[in-house]
Amino acid sequence: MYKKDDLLFVPLGGSGEIGMNANLYHHRDSWLMVDLGISFPDESTPGIDVILPDLTFIEQRRDRLAGLVLTHGHEDHLGAIPYLWNRIQCPVYGSAFTLALLRRKLAESRFDHEIPLIELGMSAVEQIGAFGVELIGLSHSIPDPAALAIRTDAGVVLHTGDWKFDKTPMIGTDTDIERLAEIGKDGVLAMVGDSTNAMVEGRTGSEAEARNGLKKVIAQATGRVAVTCFASNVARIDSIVKAAQANDRSVAIVGRALNRAMSAAREVGYLRDMPDFIPEDDIELVPREHLVIICTGTQGEPRAAMARIAVGAHESVSLEAGDTVIYSSRQIPGNENAISKVQDMLIRRKIKLVTDEDAPVHVSGHPSRDEMVEMYGLVRPQIAIPVHGTARHLMAHASLAKSCQVAQTVIPDNGAMIRLNGRSAGDDGNYRAEIIDDVHTGALTHDGGQIIEVQSDMLRARRRMLWNGAVTASVVLNRSGVLCAVPTVSQTGISDQNAADDYIAAASIAIEDAIGMLGRGARRNDSSVEEVVSQAVRRVAKSMFGLRPIAHVHVIRVGHENVADDAEDLIA
Ligand SMILES: [Zn+2]
Repeated sequence: MYKKDDLLFVPLGGSGEIGMNANLYHHRDSWLMVDLGISFPDESTPGIDVILPDLTFIEQRRDRLAGLVLTHGHEDHLGAIPYLWNRIQCPVYGSAFTLALLRRKLAESRFDHEIPLIELGMSAVEQIGAFGVELIGLSHSIPDPAALAIRTDAGVVLHTGDWKFDKTPMIGTDTDIERLAEIGKDGVLAMVGDSTNAMVEGRTGSEAEARNGLKKVIAQATGRVAVTCFASNVARIDSIVKAAQANDRSVAIVGRALNRAMSAAREVGYLRDMPDFIPEDDIELVPREHLVIICTGTQGEPRAAMARIAVGAHESVSLEAGDTVIYSSRQIPGNENAISKVQDMLIRRKIKLVTDEDAPVHVSGHPSRDEMVEMYGLVRPQIAIPVHGTARHLMAHASLAKSCQVAQTVIPDNGAMIRLNGRSAGDDGNYRAEIIDDVHTGALTHDGGQIIEVQSDMLRARRRMLWNGAVTASVVLNRSGVLCAVPTVSQTGISDQNAADDYIAAASIAIEDAIGMLGRGARRNDSSVEEVVSQAVRRVAKSMFGLRPIAHVHVIRVGHENVADDAEDLIA
């Protein structure tokens, strides 16, 4: 167990995975949470549209949780707040744009709690519990991202959040290299950092390159142009608008998330020089070669604008052969199939498709290896803790940190309780970090207004039904357990037509046999009957189709005791 003076780092999400960032720090009986994000599901979690971190550990210490500080406004850093804030009920801190975006999200989710939202300026220190927290301006792929310098009596931790270096970010400023160097000079105990591009050599390009790339591609286009990008990438929206203007084209914005991000950006002073946009209803009035449409749907989301435009089902935007679609985005791992489906549809309709593989129309928001080396040169931490990545990203980041002469690296799993200020065995006076405990973590989801575990019985049953089908069997017995009618069997998702009829016949016989084999006492007992009937229908499904369906059994009792049975009982 930990002690009062331990400076701890405990990731509850985002370590060993990309998404669902939720991190805790502890010192002097005080806890600080950094980010509270969501993940998106994959094929292994059908029927789920959001994954949330399990906060049980900190819920049990809620009275000691001084605050939640957000590094930036991406969904994997703040998206869980509308679902989980009620469980922690602490003040939420963040930069101006981050909070402007959060307010809009909360309003849309009809969130009915009053969250204390406290805006932090860059470079000012805010005391939150035992932590002096300073936001340091960064560049990333959203306005106002920040690293956190977290000061305690036991040392300073630099929590980088998501970042890159970009001298021409188009909106906002480059990462505050001077401030990072000052903090590094004063001494940093540990750096907890972004590993997303730890396997990418060189440097990540600048937003200016994407802007030029977009200008060129749009210049070559003949018909209508539609560009899809991440809604919160306000600098990219600005780049697309400027590229359209350079090519004498008007712009229409399609998609609620884009409008939400743009209104948040305007509120805090960005996007002040935008032209008048074409209202969605007027799109068809603009000559094709004079229009650029910016829309949502970079990841192939079936309900987003791009997917509906691709199949020709969008209410106000239509494309035709010879038009151009630009994906100014990257593929998030796991979404490749959904994206290909939309892109294939465009290609089939002879719409020209341009992705970042064809032209420089996108740059990442995360640092590549050369930038990471530069960051370690500035901050010079004693301990490096790679987060925000899968195991291979974290390993690559750790070995890069070692090559930068960082004395110690610790690769965390979610739930690892890492003490950062353990006294070194050596006489160098340095602290040694060590994993001292493993706390409860997990994945939750939102279903029908409830927060439940992804591994709950209900969702497990739903997945099993999806993959193995379901069988319902009804048996009618008298009080002594003698079958009074042929068992009724129905199935869903096990087989079609003839084979299904064969299955139902075989299952029905198997039920009769199974009940016939039961002893007299067991036959009178509903749960014993249910048990053997369930086994029988599943056994037949397994042998005929290799499936393990969910089985439902209804036992219906009618009439009286069997007279002959009673007689036997009396004799016995
Ligand atoms: Zn981010």
